[in-house]
Amino acid sequence: MPRPHHRTRTILAALAAPLIALGAAACQPAQQKITPPPLAKATCTTTSTRSITVNTALVQDLRDLLADAKAAGLKLCGGGYRDPAAQIAVRKANCGTTYYDIYEKPASECTPPTARPGTSMHEKGLAVDFESCDTRTTACYTWLAKHASTYGLKNLPSEPWHWSTTGG
Ligand SMILES: [Zn+2]
Repeated sequence: MPRPHHRTRTILAALAAPLIALGAAACQPAQQKITPPPLAKATCTTTSTRSITVNTALVQDLRDLLADAKAAGLKLCGGGYRDPAAQIAVRKANCGTTYYDIYEKPASECTPPTARPGTSMHEKGLAVDFESCDTRTTACYTWLAKHASTYGLKNLPSEPWHWSTTGG
């Protein structure tokens, strides 16, 4: 009688499926579910075909900063918001590719220092990495050091190019 046997196997498979799914989920990297922040774009002054995407809470200050820097002879562009996948890609590039490297290694042990996924101000849309701001002797850095606080941005001392609402 193959029929009852078959039915038993089907029932067992049905019972096992959610347990297998649960096990697979438990093996995923421990990530917080992050709701993307509200985002808007500030047009670069180096070229109008590019823009910097940031949190709507920051965008008007950033637009004003870009306009005032341009009036002072300094054209700027850079990178703002990063989604979680982009932050993981930066961790892989700067910290290494193992699970530990990506999710656990302290930011200070990466080159350059890079926040753990879920903890970067870029993921909140509240940080900008300005191009042409690689050192403290650049025109970019010296202007920002003088004026960025007017627009609510503070520098992270270990990274001349990184400016955020907290300095972190
Ligand atoms: Zn940055």
